[in-house]
Amino acid sequence: MDEPDGAQASSVTAVMPASRLGTAASSRGSGLFFVARAGRPRPGAQVPAALHLSDHPLTQAFAAFDLPDGRIDKVYLHWSAGPYDRPSSAYHFVVGFRTGLLFAEQTHDVRENMRQVTPDVAYAAHTRGRNSYAIGVSALSMLDATPHDFGPAPLTPELLDALLAMTAFICRRYGITVHPQNVLTHAECAVVENYFGLLPQQRWDLSRLDPAAEPLTEAEALDTGEALRRRISAYLR
Ligand SMILES: [Zn+2]
Repeated sequence: MDEPDGAQASSVTAVMPASRLGTAASSRGSGLFFVARAGRPRPGAQVPAALHLSDHPLTQAFAAFDLPDGRIDKVYLHWSAGPYDRPSSAYHFVVGFRTGLLFAEQTHDVRENMRQVTPDVAYAAHTRGRNSYAIGVSALSMLDATPHDFGPAPLTPELLDALLAMTAFICRRYGITVHPQNVLTHAECAVVENYFGLLPQQRWDLSRLDPAAEPLTEAEALDTGEALRRRISAYLR
């Protein structure tokens, strides 16, 4: 989902505290973590085989994007919590389905976020407190979704793959290293900044890739973020 830089965001830096990530990562070794995830495969636990951007069905669409020279340090991954075919200018680039066909589209000028954004300027308001020098990408999907029921426009493997390939393309263009400080899901940002959850003012974008009965946890959100970065990296090897 989208988000402007809010008042509470002014004191928040754009850096993911390593200590927070480290704490979450170490918790994976606890029995509790594995009990909580029993019966479900860990997403992307293995390193995926190399993928090729030039083979992706949307490669022509990516090549048509306006990606001007300038400073972009971060990419944030979202879902829109809407239907498949409703692009939003809160993001710079979206993927979705239109009449059943996968598409990728630019929805905002990257130049507007190639600066320290302030409330008096226009910019793509994708991630609270993190919109400066940052691109937001979104998979149009997850209308009325919950962690247990992804609703009438669920995230699909094809849509997710398109989002990850598009992210890889952008990372390559701007020389962004695929690292948890630079490429994050909105859910990971929400974990770090204490707004992770299902309430309207909270976010859980891309914390879970398939509906499941068990409660959503911060550990799952961070685990999924790691798995997605491995798949993005597979496009850049
Ligand atoms: Zn979001």
